[in-house]
Amino acid sequence: MGGGKIETKSLEYAESIIDTVREPLIVLDQELRVVSVSRSFYGVFKVKPEETVGQLIYDLGNKQWDIPKLRELLETILPQKAFFDNYEVVHDFATIGRRIMLLNARQIERGMGKAQIILLAIEDITTRKEMEEKIKRLAYHDSLTGLPNRMLFSDRLNMAKILSDRNRKKLALMMLDIDKFKEINDTLGHHIGDLLLQVVAEKLTGILRKEDTVARFGGDEFVLMLPDQKDVQTALNVARKILNTFRDTVVLEGHKIIITSSIGISLYPDHGKDVDTIMKNADCAMYRAKQAGRNQYHLYSEV
Ligand code: GH3
Ligand code: MG
Repeated sequence: MGGGKIETKSLEYAESIIDTVREPLIVLDQELRVVSVSRSFYGVFKVKPEETVGQLIYDLGNKQWDIPKLRELLETILPQKAFFDNYEVVHDFATIGRRIMLLNARQIERGMGKAQIILLAIEDITTRKEMEEKIKRLAYHDSLTGLPNRMLFSDRLNMAKILSDRNRKKLALMMLDIDKFKEINDTLGHHIGDLLLQVVAEKLTGILRKEDTVARFGGDEFVLMLPDQKDVQTALNVARKILNTFRDTVVLEGHKIIITSSIGISLYPDHGKDVDTIMKNADCAMYRAKQAGRNQYHLYSEV
């Protein structure tokens, strides 16, 4: 009798500690049945208190917690190590939708002769992850067109160079700048200019293969990267295709607009041994296309 009272007291004490923790906690016995949960668990995961204690964890919320990854963690990893840290588990709950959870668990000794309990912390990190994704997207993409920006392009270019060294394949770089874009802004307004940049982004994306990258470097300048090239032919074809697609009249808010562009092409490793040089040389070829009368492409050459 006396022992039972102490047992109840220590359980109440444990529960009061669990309740003060903000992140959802579950205490399980060795059969993975729920001994107790923190108040926040009910709030976050919308599980009913009367359907929780005594249940197998997988049966919670009408078996919504029967998550293969959770089974693996509790049944394979935890028995081996007596703990696991920071496992991310993604699960689509029928009641609360897709959640990203961060799982931590400990086997805890309860004293001589008593079975261990499992303390499982389940932090809902969905919002945090979504924010991180959003920040990453903002940092690496151009907000007007949604295309990769200079930073992301530069990352991909460096990667592509390494792969190209390994595979002994070439890498084509194309610098594209819209001709007389200022005039469009000046005559039709900045808003139409913005819409036109979005159209250009779509046209370029439509032409490329999925392993290629098109980025906006700001202004009316776009850069394309075509990895895995045998020679310059594909890049020349793509350039012709771009000039052709630009021939179609674009209609924006009732205005019929014809755009042309100038394109400079360089090839790695033919036109430079590092990414900076091929970028510079594509830019140089583009400048030559402008000087030669615009609406054309130029392949880099030293003379
Ligand atoms: P060029 O044929 O020599 O390229 O002539 P251009 O008029 O296109 O001149 P340039 O490429 O040097 O200038 C690009 C212009 O694009 C400058 C600026 O007015 C305009 N611009 C830059 N960023 C934006 C933008 O985000 N939106 C709009 N609408 N216009 C932009
Ligand atoms: Mg321009």
